[in-house]
Formats: sequence, structure tokens, C-alpha cells
Amino acid sequence: MSTSRKRVAILGSTGSIGRGALAVVEAHPDSFEVVSLSARGNVELLASQAARFGVKRVALVDGSRRGDIPLGIDVAVGPEALLEIASDPEADLVVNALVGAAGLAPTFAAIRAGKRLALANKESLVMAGSLVMREVARTGAALIPIDSEHSSLFRCLRGVPPAEVAAVVLTASGGPLRDVPESEIGAARVADVLRHPTWSMGEKVTVDSATLVNKAMEVVEARWLFDVPFDSIEVVIHRESIVHSLVRLTDGTFLAHLGVPDMRVPIQYAMFHPEPAGVSFGECAPERLGALHFEPLVHRRYPCFDLVLDAAKRGGTSPAIAATADEVAVAAFVKGEIPFGGIAGVIEETLRAVPGGAASDLDAVLTAEAAARDAALASVGRLHAGRN
Ligand code: MG
Repeated sequence: MSTSRKRVAILGSTGSIGRGALAVVEAHPDSFEVVSLSARGNVELLASQAARFGVKRVALVDGSRRGDIPLGIDVAVGPEALLEIASDPEADLVVNALVGAAGLAPTFAAIRAGKRLALANKESLVMAGSLVMREVARTGAALIPIDSEHSSLFRCLRGVPPAEVAAVVLTASGGPLRDVPESEIGAARVADVLRHPTWSMGEKVTVDSATLVNKAMEVVEARWLFDVPFDSIEVVIHRESIVHSLVRLTDGTFLAHLGVPDMRVPIQYAMFHPEPAGVSFGECAPERLGALHFEPLVHRRYPCFDLVLDAAKRGGTSPAIAATADEVAVAAFVKGEIPFGGIAGVIEETLRAVPGGAASDLDAVLTAEAAARDAALASVGRLHAGRN
């Protein structure tokens, strides 16, 4: 009975999506077997996950505590170790749950190794969408999105003739600051920003939900995943996070996909695909939903949204520069080094300081990332110094 189990490698197993992927395995032990895991530095959780799921191979990006992994488990260290997990010969399915630019190279490694790739890492498609999709086409690899809106669109668009699709619509909760008066947004406290109204997610994504950089990145993801032009991708604020996406058809009608706001649902979908998944994490009962609200996005509340999306529309390495600047700025905000309102300034300064170029290959993107990281750190340094 266990011969047909999918063998899974999970990149970023100690984060929010990684833990969700392990919850799927735990709920379906007859369908999945975990062969390898990776973490940045959370050795305690990684070791306990490895013990619980009988995993013999792990990667630690920060290798300083490799000695704390129990004997009998093969440990690889450093950023290159992520590439080994992504192309683990023992794995059929790779879940890329890494946060930030660190997820890009492992995405390529998994695709090139012919894995099925369940992708949660947004930066892979934001920084190098055209290169990733070209590699998918070249290798015939299966790429299944985990991001809830894209998982939902992936399902909505099946069987719809492309000529009938007028636009795809991503819903946005509006994030943790959606009801804060506009004049107070710039000084929002870290604790308030990390309190998301509808979704339980990691720190980076939660801050990105407050700036709406998350949604800008999702527009870019949709552009590449579904091969739709930017002007056919719309965003609408939907407070309840029940409708995950909509497809606007040419005759003015819509298709919608509804589900409970629990990331384990799209994670499970991606991991089971193309097999159907059962109900494991809550069912969306229409009679209990109550009212669903939709409202237009007020752009002036979310300056980062337009900054990142405009960079993506310029193309080349510009989106990689914007995404990297955001990553640096968010980390600085969470550490209390810059105000919430400073995130937009860091992105803007970095885009001005680092010239965009052609994203001709992965190296060109990674070179732009390194330059953007330096420029963004310098920008954070100036803001930090200015505050003290
Ligand atoms: Mg999302």
C-alpha cells in the first residue's frame, strides 16, 4: 500500500508553509512520505520534524549548529545545500516554501531535476518569471502554485477557453492596517502589522500584506503562471478572504472560487495534484458564510503596491531589485530599525540606485539581487541613522 506514496522534499520546513506541508503529510500518511527537509537555522524544530517523519536527510542554511542534528541524519550546510534538497534523487515532489530571494535558485534546481514543484516561494516568479516558465516549458516539469489566489485561479481557469477570459481578479484582504486611518499608517507598530485579520502566515508575508507588496508580487506571479498581460490582472479588496480569486469573462459574468482561509487547503491541493484531495482542513459551508464584501483598492494607502508593480512592468531585473529591496526593508522594520512608512522609501531608493538590465539568465538576476541587497542595506542604514 505504501508503494504509491509520493516522496516529498520540503524546502523551508520550519516556516509557516513548510509546517503546513507537514500537516498535510500527517493527515495523509498513506499518500506521502517525507524524504528531506531544510531550514535556515531553527535546528530544534528541524530535528524534531526529522524524528517525527523519519527523515534521513536535512539541509541547514546556517551551518553553525549542525552538531545539534542527531546522529544518523545526513546534514548538508550552506545555501548550496538547498539545491541538493531541491534535486534530491529520492524525491518526486519538491515543496518550495522558502521565503525571499533564497528560493529562486532552488526553484531552478527542482525544475531542472524534473521534479514536480509545489511552489509557495513568490520571489521565484517575481524575480525571474520568464526564465522559470521557459525552463518549465523546456523540461516539461509540473509547476503547481501554492499561493491561495493562484491555486484558486489554477482551478478556475481549467476548461475555460482563453478567448472567454477578459481578466483574472486577485482578492486582497487589505491586510492588518486596512482600518487604520491613513495618517497613522506610516507609524504603525510591528505588533499591529504582524496581526493579520484573516490569514495566519509568516512574518515576511504578513508585513507584505500590510504594504500590499504581497499583492503586487501576486499580480506578477499570475502574469507568468497563467500567461496573462498585466492589464488583464485586477485586484479587489475582499475583507473575508473567502473568495480567493475571480475570473471575469468577456460577457461581464464572473467565475469565483470559495474556500476557508487556511493555507493548508492550497498546500494540500498542490501536493495531491493531479489526484483529488479530500476535506482535511475545514469545509466552506455557503449557508454559514454570511455577507461577503468587495471594494476597490485605494492606491494611496499602499504606495509600495505601485512601486513594486511598476518595476515588474518595466521588466528585466527591475522586479528582482524591487523584491530584494522589500525583503531587506521588511527585515529592518521587524527589527525596529526603520518605521513602517520607511519601507516604501527603501524600495524607491534602491530602484533609483541600482540600474535595471536584461534578465537574460539566472546569473544576471542573482547579480542584480546582490547589488540591490547592498543598496537597500545602505538605504536602511541612512534611515536608521536619521532616527537616532
Ligand atoms: Mg496569497
